[in-house]
Amino acid sequence: MRKKEKNGFPGGVHPTDGYDKSLTMDIPVKEFWPDQVTVLSEQSFGGKCGLRVKPGDQVKAGELIGVPEAFMAAPLHASVSGEVLDVKEVSNQGRDILACIIKTGEKVSSEEKSYEREAADISGISRDEILAGIRDGGLTGMGGAGFPTHKKYETDKEIDALLINGAECEPFLTCDYRLMLEHRWSVVNGVRLMLKGSGAKTAYICMEDNKPEAAKALSEALEAGKKSGVIGTEEDVQIKVLPTKYPQGGERQLIESVLGREVPMGGLPADVGVIVSNVGTSKAVADMILGRQPLTRRIVTVTGWVKNPGNYLVPIGTSAKELVQLCGGVTVKNNRVIAGGPMTGPCVASDWEGESELFYITKNTSGILVLPDSQWEEQPCIRCEGCAKVCPAGLIPYQIEFAYMEEDYDLCESLYASECIACGCCSYTCPAKRELSVRTRMARDVVKQRMRERAVKKS
Ligand code: SF4
Ligand code: SF4
Repeated sequence: MRKKEKNGFPGGVHPTDGYDKSLTMDIPVKEFWPDQVTVLSEQSFGGKCGLRVKPGDQVKAGELIGVPEAFMAAPLHASVSGEVLDVKEVSNQGRDILACIIKTGEKVSSEEKSYEREAADISGISRDEILAGIRDGGLTGMGGAGFPTHKKYETDKEIDALLINGAECEPFLTCDYRLMLEHRWSVVNGVRLMLKGSGAKTAYICMEDNKPEAAKALSEALEAGKKSGVIGTEEDVQIKVLPTKYPQGGERQLIESVLGREVPMGGLPADVGVIVSNVGTSKAVADMILGRQPLTRRIVTVTGWVKNPGNYLVPIGTSAKELVQLCGGVTVKNNRVIAGGPMTGPCVASDWEGESELFYITKNTSGILVLPDSQWEEQPCIRCEGCAKVCPAGLIPYQIEFAYMEEDYDLCESLYASECIACGCCSYTCPAKRELSVRTRMARDVVKQRMRERAVKKS
């Protein structure tokens, strides 16, 4: 493995000139209420909940409808008020998942609350109340794998730093940027609660230097809160602006960039005294603890080759097909539709014409992206080492790919395939257009599975 750089994280790429983000970053978020929602019982891979509703039930927005049945799960709430039409398996990104389909009735009032326009007095809220709110509100990461937030905060490890991830380093996505701009007080109040809940000394709200307006908005809110005396001197919340480089928002990369700490191989951020949470989660913390609203809505970027790109605030369970239609449909026939950003998001449809369902919005869906189909053909590797130079995990992707294709999993393991973060930098840079990250990620999964099996045998 390669040694770390003096400043920031090693490797990485600059996949964008900014045009992709400019498609949506200056457009205010619009609200959209669909006629019905399909709330999946598994909001992230492996996060299975048992549904507690049946057809004909009347539910209220925010009412508990699913209880966790797996380590990766968080409580699940109705995202709209209305009648449960059905509880059945639906196809979502190639898998059949049990879902609750609700016909939308009365809409949630969007009246502004005081914590959404000024610093909130949180002195009377205890750490236990914050942790209970995070758990009961069904909060999860809102940018990556959708890890349940309470699992990070209920740690035995000593935490001294909290990183709020507003880097949004993936091209095209701007939902976090708009959230920081339009919900600055919810973000600031949520971060203060998370700081108290984590027991950390300092919280850093981190973003790349391509978002100066967001940095300004949050700095001004913090200053105003301090001036009014509501934000106390013991609440150390700082804004951290970082160079624009992908994957700056990767958990390990962010920790290296901000704190210069390296998470040990196979370890977690808590091992180096850090919790990393997405900026969307901070708003969700404020909504739950100060507004008594569990996580039932989120902002989604709909962009790329669609007629009118934009950001939409939608209930969880909204149909991605309906959102693309709302944006005027696709503008290129030979296309690929991606759930999330172009570097890490899975392709959910090719040559999509708007007929079939795409997928349903979950708590960690950041975007829907339509790209023209590139029709690249893979060529043999020319051993240029380009993939190794850009790998932020310090791996040698072409060697892992070769070992994986030869089914030599011992070699995959000795090449540290378990450390792949599936960032896509290697595929992006490869002149032979090899599907490197798909294979290095599969190699990682096989190696991790073998490691787990060995650990079970030993115990
Ligand atoms: S996908 Fe994995 S192997 Fe490829 S650059 Fe990212 S971390 Fe490295
Ligand atoms: S970048 Fe592509 S061609 Fe170059 S070494 Fe890596 S896999 Fe081979």
